[in-house]
Amino acid sequence: MDLDVVLDQIHAELQPVIGSGKVADYIPGLADVDPRQFGMVVAMNNGDVHATGDADTAFSVQSISKVLSLALTIEHSDDEIWRSVSREPSGNPFNSLLHLDQEGGRPRNPFINAGALVVTDRLHHMTGDASAAMRDFVRRESGNDLVDGDPAVARSEAEKGHRIAAMAHLLASYDNLVCSVEDVLEQYFWQCSLSMTCREVALAAGLLARNGARADGTRVLTTSQSKRINAVMLTCGTYDAAGEFAFRVGLPAKSGVGGGILAVIPDVCTICVWSPGLGPSGNSAVGMAALDSFTTRTGWSIF
Ligand code: GLN
Repeated sequence: MDLDVVLDQIHAELQPVIGSGKVADYIPGLADVDPRQFGMVVAMNNGDVHATGDADTAFSVQSISKVLSLALTIEHSDDEIWRSVSREPSGNPFNSLLHLDQEGGRPRNPFINAGALVVTDRLHHMTGDASAAMRDFVRRESGNDLVDGDPAVARSEAEKGHRIAAMAHLLASYDNLVCSVEDVLEQYFWQCSLSMTCREVALAAGLLARNGARADGTRVLTTSQSKRINAVMLTCGTYDAAGEFAFRVGLPAKSGVGGGILAVIPDVCTICVWSPGLGPSGNSAVGMAALDSFTTRTGWSIF
């Protein structure tokens, strides 16, 4: 199978719908992104990279960063994080406060906003600088020493981030933050604002397709820890659309409101697709269709 051909076929098939969906405008820094963009990259475990469309245009990774912060947190403290965060799908929007109060400040999973705040808090506490730890990691794995957060996007989210600030304070009220609310929010907004291309995201997440090993073979996670992250991506990575996503695509995945989706085929490859228009659950509408088409055409799914 020629994956370059497969990707070009998917791009052509989706041409009529590219631009559909709604760009995330609740973060002012994302409101002006042109929705008629589409990129897709498959990074194979053997180092081959296949790409189509706007594969080298940087976009705001937003919640895709939650996978990387979780991986680094587990690297630093083994499985400690699971004492403070559960791993059940929430069935609620990613920014919902409902379960958090009902369930005593223990977030349902690390990929909804409440859980990601706890993960970032622990990473910041353990490393002294969560953004530096993440920046170093993504630069090394993506091979681009210039990857960084976008201060304008981070600032615009901070200015409008009343809901996430409320969530951080609620976590603190339940003693589920170690660092200050201000520090956690600053780190969280920075990681969400990371500006990366599909190629860089696919490469940076390669450890999840390699059972926890970096591209150079050195280990970040044990095989079991890597499999567990993939399991949580499958059940919780696309929020209240995780069931629909597993049904249509059949891969562990993590989306972000910048329109990117990272998917993992364990032992084979990582895939990153980006198209800014979102569906109702905050996942890229065209990105989901592209992954649906990819797993249908290739027969590559975990099922
Ligand atoms: N920064 C965004 C937020 O906190 C990330 C959400 C997302 O990508 N799903 O709302």
